[in-house]
Amino acid sequence: MKRIAVFTSGGDAPGMNAHVRAIERTAQKRGLEVIGIIGGYAGMIAGQFEVLDRIRTANILDRGGTVLKTSRCPEFMEPDGRSRAAEQLHAHGINGVIACGGDGTFHGAHLLWLEHQIPIVGTPGTIDNDLWGTDYTLGYDTAINTATEAIDKIRDTADSHGRLFFVEVMGRHAGFIAMDVGVASGAEYVAVAETMTDIEVLYQRILAQGIDKRTIVIVGEGDEVGGAMVISQAIEERYGLPSKVSILGHMQRGGSPTVRDRVLGARLGAAAVDALLEGRSDIMIGESAGNVTHIPLEETWLTKKSVPPYLFDLSTLLV
Ligand code: ADP
Repeated sequence: MKRIAVFTSGGDAPGMNAHVRAIERTAQKRGLEVIGIIGGYAGMIAGQFEVLDRIRTANILDRGGTVLKTSRCPEFMEPDGRSRAAEQLHAHGINGVIACGGDGTFHGAHLLWLEHQIPIVGTPGTIDNDLWGTDYTLGYDTAINTATEAIDKIRDTADSHGRLFFVEVMGRHAGFIAMDVGVASGAEYVAVAETMTDIEVLYQRILAQGIDKRTIVIVGEGDEVGGAMVISQAIEERYGLPSKVSILGHMQRGGSPTVRDRVLGARLGAAAVDALLEGRSDIMIGESAGNVTHIPLEETWLTKKSVPPYLFDLSTLLV
């Protein structure tokens, strides 16, 4: 193996740049050349390749987003798109690829391996933390810290006015962000898809806190009732209780990565290069119970990762 490539794909996540830097540095030490594919699978199909060196990857590890850019690429969902991508990789003499992204990215990587036998390893880059086989995904720690910081600020005004606030956080398919942030910010109630959101129980919780007191309710965007706005309206319509709604949105994706995300990105990046050198493919490199893990890509989406039960216990115990 002489030349490997790395790309970032799907939703951007803080820590991706520290990850790319670690891949470039590790590869150089192992005598490999590294190509950065610009713009995810779309860049792979279009042949947007650029040599990564020490200078290109200097001063990026503290930056959010991804210097390699990212995309959603419908063409890659089709066999023809993947064939064009494989042709580009062959034409550029690339014989190993690192794909940093979420489960959509891993589906694509799995097919690229099956159909074209191009060695490819995935690394978990998503703020959602919803990938089986790794305790944490890259960007998750930064996202929960960013959200908690924002809620601390909302708490100040909620407390001063004695108001009820509904704060919606990201997590389309899983309540990881909402549950961790809910415990970290001492929320009075956390609404997520994993548990039934009962408007009456929620109202009783608000009453118990004191109707004229500050109350913070965290709502995961994937909650089955339909988000912070819907719950706020339901409480107002049923009980005549007004509230404020704050949807944190994309701010949760941005910003300088935390130390945890930089170190995770570094570790997974170095391990991904070494996995390719060992001849591995079609796996995700993760971290679990302090150890690097190698998980077949398919397993990362076939096995569902659940929010740890202790978070549900704490979120009700500590109110
Ligand atoms: P994430 O990787 O963060 O889950 P997406 O779901 O948007 O983000 O996936 C990123 C890209 O991966 C898609 O735009 C598409 O190009 C590719 N992809 C997703 N699902 C598949 C699939 N089933 N088959 C082939 N490629 C896929």
